[in-house]
Amino acid sequence: MFNLLCNKLNQRNLEEILISNDFIDIYKIANNIRKQYKGDYVHIRALIEFSNICKSHCYYCGLRCENNKVQRYRLSEKQILRNVEFSVKSGYKTIVLQSGEDLFWDSDKLCALIKQIKKYDIAITLSIGERSYEEYKAFKAAGADRYLLRIETTDKNLYRELHPNMSFDNRINCLYNLKSLGYETGTGCIVGLPNQSIESLAQDIMFFKDLNADMVGIGPFIPHPDTPLADADNNNFDSALKVTALTRIVLPDINIPATTAMESLKPNGRITALNSGANVVMINVTDNDYKNKYEIYPNKVCLNSINDILAAGRKISQSKGFRKDKN
Ligand code: SAM
Ligand code: SF4
Repeated sequence: MFNLLCNKLNQRNLEEILISNDFIDIYKIANNIRKQYKGDYVHIRALIEFSNICKSHCYYCGLRCENNKVQRYRLSEKQILRNVEFSVKSGYKTIVLQSGEDLFWDSDKLCALIKQIKKYDIAITLSIGERSYEEYKAFKAAGADRYLLRIETTDKNLYRELHPNMSFDNRINCLYNLKSLGYETGTGCIVGLPNQSIESLAQDIMFFKDLNADMVGIGPFIPHPDTPLADADNNNFDSALKVTALTRIVLPDINIPATTAMESLKPNGRITALNSGANVVMINVTDNDYKNKYEIYPNKVCLNSINDILAAGRKISQSKGFRKDKN
């Protein structure tokens, strides 16, 4: 039954499940598949939000360059390394370096930083947006292991509307470049964007499969008051959970985070996601002064405890948590 579902779900089936309110218990199925392929281990990723400076205009994001209410910051290499040391001491096995599209961090500076971090026995994930093939190649050669770049939506028209200065085709190219360079490549989408159709959500899941994504992060859209989408609907938890579960069913062995946006929208959202197919969580190790300024959406929750994970009967992985890792 499980394998049948994994191999056979097509665009049409996905649409039917996404539309239906009482289809089948996809959360239970996704949870069983997660258990079968990934075990009960949860991988912790230590998140450093090292710059909230961004040249882009993404309509949904509080960090978009037009938002002049944001107090902008950029951490120094020394500050970042302090967060890295804290993460290493805490036993975390992966650092995620995330920022806006901040070109101050050019290839030379980032490669120097990556090499410093690689002196520790820790995996590095970059989440810094679109760069050239040469830059991605240089980051990889310097020691970066993984890269997160959400496609956000595979609806080309919607993508164009929401990203005035960006190209859908370039984003796709970036993802295939990352794959070809040997990164563990993560993508994902936002669920609940205004004018987003069920068909396009099903298409998003098919895209994750076509790319053979190693990680997929799915977040409910949370409107930010200082963006053009301030008045949009904020009721996107259940749909995002459904897309998470379906992604697990379609790509049984990948890493899927219980995203911060899930917890921000609903108490225990992270555990609900972990019980519906997810197997990764992010712990924000950025200094408080800065993480409060990294406001992509309002009331962003940063959970730094793992007690709820243990109480839910899951174990904390001691491995670096690559796709192929069994524990
Ligand atoms: N700048 C990089 C990029 O865009 O890939 C990385 C940082 S960006 C803040 C990380 C993710 O935040 C984006 O990929 C987007 O999906 C998500 N995001 C931004 N605004 C959001 C919102 N209002 N609700 C939910 N997710 C949001
Ligand atoms: Fe910048 Fe990323 Fe936010 Fe877009 S989603 S405005 S690129 S930080």
